[in-house]
Amino acid sequence: MTPALAPAACAASAWHATPDLGLRLVLIGGLLLLAGWAASQRFFPGRRAFIGLFGAATWWVVAATVEHASAEAACKVTLALAAWPAILALPPLWVIFLARYTNNRTDPPRVRALLAAGAPAALLAGLALANGWHGMLYGAGTHLGAPQLGLPRMQYAFGPLFYVNAAWCYGWLLAALAIVLQAWRDGELRDLRWPVFIAVMTVPWVANAAFLIHGWRLMGADPTPLGFAAGLLGMGWLVLRHELFRLVPMAQRLLFAELPDPVLVIDAEGRVVGVNRAARDLAGAGMDAIGRRLRDWPRLGQALAQALADPSRRGPLMLDDPARVLELRRRPLGERERRVGELLQLRDVTEHHRAQVRLVQALADRNAQLQTVAALQAELREQALRDPLTGLHNRRALQLQFDDAVQQARAIGRPLALALLDVDHFKRINDEVGHAAGDAVLCALGARLRGAMRHAEAAYRLGGEEFALLLPGADAGLALARLKALRAEIAAAPLEGAPRPVTLSAGIAVLGPQAQTLGELLRRADAAMYRAKAGGRDRVELAR
Ligand code: GH3
Ligand code: MG
Ligand code: MG
Repeated sequence: MTPALAPAACAASAWHATPDLGLRLVLIGGLLLLAGWAASQRFFPGRRAFIGLFGAATWWVVAATVEHASAEAACKVTLALAAWPAILALPPLWVIFLARYTNNRTDPPRVRALLAAGAPAALLAGLALANGWHGMLYGAGTHLGAPQLGLPRMQYAFGPLFYVNAAWCYGWLLAALAIVLQAWRDGELRDLRWPVFIAVMTVPWVANAAFLIHGWRLMGADPTPLGFAAGLLGMGWLVLRHELFRLVPMAQRLLFAELPDPVLVIDAEGRVVGVNRAARDLAGAGMDAIGRRLRDWPRLGQALAQALADPSRRGPLMLDDPARVLELRRRPLGERERRVGELLQLRDVTEHHRAQVRLVQALADRNAQLQTVAALQAELREQALRDPLTGLHNRRALQLQFDDAVQQARAIGRPLALALLDVDHFKRINDEVGHAAGDAVLCALGARLRGAMRHAEAAYRLGGEEFALLLPGADAGLALARLKALRAEIAAAPLEGAPRPVTLSAGIAVLGPQAQTLGELLRRADAAMYRAKAGGRDRVELAR
């Protein structure tokens, strides 16, 4: 006869007081107590799966206990079948609990995930309960076997569905083991929870394997449900003793509350659903501000909402209060396809920011100083090259500019002439009008000479009433013509402060094989000028 649900058979059954009844009642009581304790707890991740886990274990142990106590085969079969919904639900609940607990998740589980685990479990459970129609879980060969310890005992003929169900359960238990091992490996602390979980999972596993493979029984009964119950109770005892579920969330909440950086949790609608003390202090807000939209939050709301709205924004965030500069870090909450909110972490970088501003200012000041120094240096250099009375360049400048002029003249094959000029009888002018007026005459002469210079030409005061002209591009003929014209021009129009027309004597030397350096040119020009003086003054001579 195919085993089928027959509740009426239990009403008619005779009952045995099994020797393990006391142990079973203790286990059932323990499971119920722990489920009740978990139901009374407000916070811990995977709480509902945990309660379901203990509920399913209780269901299974109760069914197995009653089955064990019944003397009637049809009643025993009924209870064995009735245990299957709990047996099939227990491993997935175990996995859901572990997955949420190890990942510290308290958001509602996804409907798709619940369906993926729940629908096959419900189908398999339905098939188990309907065994009377198909006999695929327990076959027609199921019969009352020889009594053991004086108790009647069923010999179940396992059908293919039994092995499907076993595979279902073992598959989930393997997943549970994988989750715990992963959490153990990823854990940052040396955490006792994971080895405890693994030990807990091993007890029912070993019991079930011993029963299925070796037919091992505990006081005449399948030890698997008792193994599950014992394992779960062991874990429950540890949980209560060490407050495992509360310790870590408590520590996390404390950390969040005490964190010196302001932290805000925003939901998908942009409402502030959680803040720590630092964030409340920063905003100057009370607990009543929780639940308001971020942009309506005092002080930091506007700036933060603007920063969130602009994804390209970089760098620190300024609050209305200019004394505060904050750095914003955003962490999305939830899975990628299901964003449930965002964690906003602010870091006070005011000091850092101020230091940076000071540094930039100091660099700017230093740059300005360097520019001033450079300008002063340029001015000093310029002063060193100028004659203070006439404003013309001096002999040092002539040396520098002469070298450049020679280089250029050689590069493009152009002539270069140097003229030396000396005022005639200047001592007399001084004697007649005084030294100061003599100075004025020298000044006026300097201005004249400067005014007469063409592009690239330059006039220098070498000292006293002696001047030099550097004439790039001029050969001897051209230089002679230029100097004669200049002499005539100066002699024709009286100089400011001069009692009578001032005349000049000049000597000209040209760059050539005999005159390559400034010294040589000056010597030759000086000799020519000496000849001009000797020849009666007020004239220009070419060096020979
Ligand atoms: P010559 O060159 O025609 O031979 O006669 P000179 O009188 O010009 O010649 P000398 O070199 O003997 O005299 C130059 C005079 O120029 C001597 C000095 O008093 C005057 N002198 C030199 N430097 C300055 C100056 O900076 N200012 C004034 N006022 N006089 C100066
Ligand atoms: Mg002189
Ligand atoms: Mg003179």
